[in-house]
Amino acid sequence: MAEEILNAENGEEKEVISRNFIEMIIDKDLEEGKYEEICTRFPPEPNGYLHIGHAKSILLNYGLAKQYGGKFNLRFDDTNPTKEKIEFVDSIKADVEWLGADFEDRLYFASNYFDKIYESAVKLIKDGKAFVCDLSADEIREYRGTFEVPGKESPYRNRSVEENLQLFAEMRDGKYSDGEKVLRAKIDMASPNINMRDPVIYRVAHMTHHNTGDKWCVYPMYDFAHPLEDAFEGITHSICTLEFEDHRPLYDWVVENVGFEHPPKQIEFAKLYLTNVVTGKRYIKKLVEDKIVDGWDDPRLVSIAALRRRGFTPESIKMFVELCGVSKANSSVDYPMLEYCIREDLKLKKPRVMACIDPIKVVVDNYPEDQVEWFDVPNNLENESLGSRKVPFCRDLYIDREDFMEEPPKKYFRLYPGNEVRFMNAYFLTCTSIEKDDNGNITLIHCTYDPETKNGNCDTRKVKGTIHWVSARHAINATVRLYENLIDEEKGVYNEDGSLNLNPNSLTILKDCKLEPSLADAKAFDSFQFVRQGFFNVDYKDSKEGELVFNRIVSLKSSFKLNK
Ligand code: ATP
Ligand code: MG
Repeated sequence: MAEEILNAENGEEKEVISRNFIEMIIDKDLEEGKYEEICTRFPPEPNGYLHIGHAKSILLNYGLAKQYGGKFNLRFDDTNPTKEKIEFVDSIKADVEWLGADFEDRLYFASNYFDKIYESAVKLIKDGKAFVCDLSADEIREYRGTFEVPGKESPYRNRSVEENLQLFAEMRDGKYSDGEKVLRAKIDMASPNINMRDPVIYRVAHMTHHNTGDKWCVYPMYDFAHPLEDAFEGITHSICTLEFEDHRPLYDWVVENVGFEHPPKQIEFAKLYLTNVVTGKRYIKKLVEDKIVDGWDDPRLVSIAALRRRGFTPESIKMFVELCGVSKANSSVDYPMLEYCIREDLKLKKPRVMACIDPIKVVVDNYPEDQVEWFDVPNNLENESLGSRKVPFCRDLYIDREDFMEEPPKKYFRLYPGNEVRFMNAYFLTCTSIEKDDNGNITLIHCTYDPETKNGNCDTRKVKGTIHWVSARHAINATVRLYENLIDEEKGVYNEDGSLNLNPNSLTILKDCKLEPSLADAKAFDSFQFVRQGFFNVDYKDSKEGELVFNRIVSLKSSFKLNK
């Protein structure tokens, strides 16, 4: 796609590149003049926070609209007042906007169509295509039959149009209690597709709706409301996930029988699943309710709010979704691919700073006690435009504990007694001795420096190791949180009792980490590469003045390889 746009812009001949199956359908529809302009939508139900799977749907729908010069709508599918909340409406809107899917002024609510949906039901009744049924929910299920057994017609199926109109009006006027009567489409009880066996299209539900209040006590069923909402808005391609494939004949039946000149077309694609994380609103909700995670935006989740909080960018999610592609076959994508995308996105954009997340003290015995040198350090060696910053060096430093070993194995090139290494951007230092506490823990590393190796350069000899460090006199304190996947799939997603097999190490909190002073001004949502440790983002909720909290977005190491 990107390639093609590029070529077109250069005025070169358009290259034929592979199109996904949805693009092929749209191309054909446009060629045949079925629609003049395409219109897509994202139709969330406001009953939870959005997750990475929804991001795929949002970016797919928005991307197609943009690619074809069409329109993209955001529409809340709020036809089920039991589980829906304003909190979710607000969070979903924020997430869609953050992803950059611009719906301009086209923000809609299915509940605003309740009058029109009601009128559509009345039309079906008048045409003899819908009837009020008094069977109970259980009886309706029983009459419906199974894949093998055809359904049985309801004894109320042949009520007159007049009677149906009157009963439906009474349903609306609150004469019946929940479940006492429903409105059903009159289609075909012998259909091999169970969805076509006189499906319920309206139910009585005495509930307050977050948008329409107590105006209605009848609410349309999803399968009836959804195609109508699409049709009212002039949606041309109604893109949804595979589980709706069997509902498509009903979708088509509704738009045809209510009567639209340019009915929308439903197209299904496979849901996005990721390994080692929990996708699915219902499951995320349970983790939140069971307090296994700390709210919907706990950085271990893949809700969009969590990804944003952790430091993922809209660009990285877009790259991820594009790499995944669209298909008709369900499969799981490896989580490391998402990590690859955020690394790629941040690599050149973010400064590379020094932070000791498990600090241990170093004293440079031959360095003048009162001296401080401020080294000019480039912010990103691969991107000069990020400029440089000053980093202080003095006698008292910190390094990361993993960069020192008293008795190193072979091929350990970092600091150990007698070894010389480069302190990044500063000097060559040699470890001369160590101090320990009563328990044998190392408390202080003594070093000497060579003044001839300023800026870490030396013409006469080489060192094999370069380590990062922070001036102890200038360091700022911070808390750092490291994450692992919530679930370790190699051990199985579920335990024998059906509960999720949670990874006990999904969160590690490191207190009193020492960061270089340039980070003192970091603000919520700022992100940085901590040299050799990964990319980190300032947590916007838990950071306080003088005590920043950093979430590790992703480490620098990867098992993922992109097949180009
Ligand atoms: P969940 O399955 O997580 O509960 P949902 O499908 O119930 O989600 P909706 O609010 O009904 O959530 O979905 C809005 C849109 O997002 C629908 O068009 C749905 O098909 C799509 N969608 C939901 N989950 C995924 C996913 N994992 N991958 C791609 N699209 C998805
Ligand atoms: Mg749903």
